[in-house]
Amino acid sequence: MPANILVVEDEPAIQELLALNITQAGHNAIRALSVEIAQNLMREMTPDLILLDWMLPGMNGLEFARKLKSEAHTKEIPIIMLTARGEEYDKVRGLEVGADDYVTKPFSPRELNARIKAVLRRRAPQMTDDPIELRGLRLDPITHRVTGNQTHIDLGPTEFRLLHFLMSNAERVHTRSQLLDKVWGDRVFVEDRTVDVHIRRLRNALAISGHEDLIQTVRGSGYRLSVQHT
Ligand code: CA
Repeated sequence: MPANILVVEDEPAIQELLALNITQAGHNAIRALSVEIAQNLMREMTPDLILLDWMLPGMNGLEFARKLKSEAHTKEIPIIMLTARGEEYDKVRGLEVGADDYVTKPFSPRELNARIKAVLRRRAPQMTDDPIELRGLRLDPITHRVTGNQTHIDLGPTEFRLLHFLMSNAERVHTRSQLLDKVWGDRVFVEDRTVDVHIRRLRNALAISGHEDLIQTVRGSGYRLSVQHT
């Protein structure tokens, strides 16, 4: 699943380079030249990750990171700080306000992509393209193939995303509204029972290899994918 990565950088050439890297890594780049523009964009969408330059006109990156990490609806968004400074003191300050990682300019595209991948893997595992295997059920995000004990399992796009999310966050219980946020997108209007419909389809598809019992209904809460028998 591609991640929406917000790039807040005031130098157009660097912004262009960052956006190009992000696109080549298979993600979507959303660009802002200032914190003010970033804040306007964030009224309409919640990015999966923010690449945030330190030195910006108006509010600087450090202040913006502090603000994002202090507000309930934005504090979970991972932040990678970008800066021309390489001093240990600045690095510590960036991490102190809650930034997840730090990249010093000039950066190599490889290093940047590795850091983006590492942060996404930690904070939003379903955004990376690593294959996942649990109890013989294997999902490969690159080829979009799902197999259960080597048997091909045919899934629709929504069931695929749903399974990817549940496998990336195994053993955790998710409410229907959390699943709507994470799998359907947070501004989409869909009814809660839509989730039940897709869970049912997913279970039916997984029954071919006997993996349907991995998807458990947690009464009064929601759903979880678990490899432990209850
Ligand atoms: Ca700058």
